[in-house]
Amino acid sequence: MLTINEVRKQFGSFTAVDGINLQIPKGEIFGLLGANGAGKTTTFRMILGLLTPSQGRITWNDKEISYETSDLIGYLPEERGLYPKLTVREQLIYLGQLRGMTRSQIQEQTNKWLQRFGAEEYLNKKVEALSKGNQQKIQFIAAVLHRPELLILDEPFSGLDPVNVELLKSAVHELKKEGTTIVFSSHRMEHVEELCQHLCIMHRGKSVVQGNLKEIKRSFGKKNVSVKADFNLTYLKDTAGVIKHRTTGDGIILQVEREEVAQDLFRAIQSKGFVRKFELEEPSLNDIFIEKVGVVHE
Ligand code: ATP
Repeated sequence: MLTINEVRKQFGSFTAVDGINLQIPKGEIFGLLGANGAGKTTTFRMILGLLTPSQGRITWNDKEISYETSDLIGYLPEERGLYPKLTVREQLIYLGQLRGMTRSQIQEQTNKWLQRFGAEEYLNKKVEALSKGNQQKIQFIAAVLHRPELLILDEPFSGLDPVNVELLKSAVHELKKEGTTIVFSSHRMEHVEELCQHLCIMHRGKSVVQGNLKEIKRSFGKKNVSVKADFNLTYLKDTAGVIKHRTTGDGIILQVEREEVAQDLFRAIQSKGFVRKFELEEPSLNDIFIEKVGVVHE
């Protein structure tokens, strides 16, 4: 289990991480969310032992993270960290050897992952000659080559096209099945909803929401009513209990303060024309994020 206990990080008088407490069990995929500058990367760097917390303690299986434990961890940094002049092969051999792997282990893992990502043709290409998305795939391979117990992925999906996003997601699921503990950050709420059971939303260094995704949604209280019809639905926004609304191409999504408001909305559309959809939905993670953090996220 990864345990983060009352961790703080000061840069001079500025507090980047302010008393974070997290417990992430083995084999879990955990999402760390937050607007730009919330403190996610600083938290990751402390987990990795690259930064020392100003206060508090971080342990992996009850041991302080140190030089000895660093081979148990894999890290995909947000910024690109590959050597542009090396070929993919040279790069992976170099990083694998740093992790104490033998050449044959490196070769086996490299072949497995390149095949999985449909990237065998890049083996002898220089990193600088690859597209941004393909470099990202190689960087992911570099992070998992030594089969770490704990995998930290900082914005793993950035720069990937939808096909490659799916490839990476399925690789993440498979690593979880094999028992890897995965902590990742993302600005894409749909990826977090799909991959994580547990998450933490950070805001200005503090945790503002934390826990099980389903419970977070349930306790948020507000729900969404999605309506699609062949007549203008904008008048529904004035119904009592509607907090906000958003029109879509062919309908409207109304945030309601409680479930019962949906019944009033249902009554309000009856006999007005042809209704194609009327659905009461859980709030999205995006709704929760916007309310807690107060900014619109990409
Ligand atoms: P993003 O989504 O933009 O990557 P983040 O949540 O990862 O943001 P961090 O990179 O952890 O945010 O930064 C948190 C805050 O700490 C920012 O205000 C940043 O400017 C500050 N910060 C980070 N590293 C340092 C440093 N070495 N010295 C001073 N301030 C720093």
